[in-house]
Amino acid sequence: MLLSMKTGKTLVGLVDYHLHTARCGHAEGGLEDYVSRALELGLAEIGFSDHFPLLHLRDPSLSMALEELPEYVREIGELAERTTGLTVRMGIEVDYVDGYVDRLAELLRPYPFDYVLGSVHYLDGWGFDDPRYVDGYRGRDIHALWERYFQVLGDAAECGLFDVLAHPDLIKKFGWRPRGDVRRLYEECLDRVAESGLVVEVSTAGLRKPVGEVYPGEDFLRLCREREIPVTLGSDAHAPGEVGWRFESALALLRRAGYRDIVRFRKRERSLLPLPKAGSGT
Ligand code: ZN
Ligand code: FE
Ligand code: FE
Ligand code: ZN
Repeated sequence: MLLSMKTGKTLVGLVDYHLHTARCGHAEGGLEDYVSRALELGLAEIGFSDHFPLLHLRDPSLSMALEELPEYVREIGELAERTTGLTVRMGIEVDYVDGYVDRLAELLRPYPFDYVLGSVHYLDGWGFDDPRYVDGYRGRDIHALWERYFQVLGDAAECGLFDVLAHPDLIKKFGWRPRGDVRRLYEECLDRVAESGLVVEVSTAGLRKPVGEVYPGEDFLRLCREREIPVTLGSDAHAPGEVGWRFESALALLRRAGYRDIVRFRKRERSLLPLPKAGSGT
């Protein structure tokens, strides 16, 4: 503990599997800057998981172009080879959009990803987490919207493309919540997630957003735990300073929900990493 306080290495032995790169058009910093920050924090492993090119629309401010994908993979692979002091994994964050699963499978197949994050950012064509389209919440039946979101998240879990569901309750991002109980929506979705054998990401990105809460919330995470759904950790960093950001909050939440370990990946195979004991510097 003393050592970690002195060195500032507060996240010794942990992973951050959700880092973006400048290629997506809305992140900043060089790859080496992300690595330096991770080394400062003492992280054991980081994974880049930049946005996979969107197939249903082309917006250079949202993702790299399809032609850039080989270059991204080469660049992360080279970074992994030359980096010492921590392990660099090659991931990718892929949008789940109904109707594109076969095409995505074909496009992902040639690459040696360590893991694939699946994200739901679109509901029936609406980019509900994009601040430009936030007006779409007004006048909507929010309960019906949440119901639709957790159905689509379940579809994403079952589609066979993904290892991890990223920011699983992203629909809360701007703070629009249904009045009634949403437990049934969580349960129906998580039964499908458990059945599909996916891992759920615990992401501190929500703490930077209007909702001001880790993704997922505690109720959701407890239901994951009940179903023995494994978890991993991500910051969704879009800048080097966001690497490992507020992981103490994520760890506290994980402990409250009863988790003792997190998952790490190598070539799409999992292993378990025990969480540090409370008070051991994290
Ligand atoms: Zn992004
Ligand atoms: Fe995302
Ligand atoms: Fe992301
Ligand atoms: Zn994300």
